[in-house]
Amino acid sequence: ANMISMFAHDMRSSLTGIHGLALRLLNKSAGMEEERKIEYLRIINKEAAKLESLVDDFLEFSRLETGRLKLNFDSISLEKELLELFEAYRAKTAQTAIRMELQIEEALPIIEADANRLRRVFTNLLDNALKFSKGQGVITISAKEVNHGVVVKIMDEGIGIDPAELPFIFDLFHRGCGSEKREGYGIGLATVKAIVEGHGGRVYVASTLGKGSTFTIVLPRKIKRKEGE
Ligand code: ADP
Repeated sequence: ANMISMFAHDMRSSLTGIHGLALRLLNKSAGMEEERKIEYLRIINKEAAKLESLVDDFLEFSRLETGRLKLNFDSISLEKELLELFEAYRAKTAQTAIRMELQIEEALPIIEADANRLRRVFTNLLDNALKFSKGQGVITISAKEVNHGVVVKIMDEGIGIDPAELPFIFDLFHRGCGSEKREGYGIGLATVKAIVEGHGGRVYVASTLGKGSTFTIVLPRKIKRKEGE
């Protein structure tokens, strides 16, 4: 399907929902129970957050593509970032049959990275892992130090990816079969790749259809700066 019309269609249905509920709150709130008002506001909030994150994805990607996104490098503790993400996703999956695992054997080195963008990389991968798990299984985050940097893996036991599709999944707007019924626009992995490469790193995928997928991110400890930077 045409991506722009799909995007517009989804944007519109979220906006229509928000609009409708806002109108109802404006016109009928007089006799409305407090609980119902809060319920409406909660839905409005959720839909608005969804829209915001979608638009952010697009903006971020286009900034990366056109080189307008400047990464803000700083010394960061990857371990702290991963621990926080792990806790967040553990809370998120607490009520489900999905189990989160974190494997960090030895202390990770401090690396030079843009913490916010890197978080985006991991949340995109973890959201996919959740989205393409069949509501169960283990999602593992592992990290270790290597020669000149770190390797982080996000593994899931979800639907897996068709080998024929693997070469394309990092392309903008590429969506695999099996993703039709799931939300998304195929921006997530393109963003992951752009951010990781902006760090001088690489991203790889390995997957077995029906068994699960592993995304591997290799990040250098220090950024190689170009002349004059
Ligand atoms: P989206 O998730 O919005 O479709 P992405 O760019 O994040 O877009 O992913 C592109 C495609 O790659 C997905 O549509 C899906 O087919 C495939 N994919 C990504 N992550 C996984 C995963 N963990 N398991 C199975 N398929 C995946």
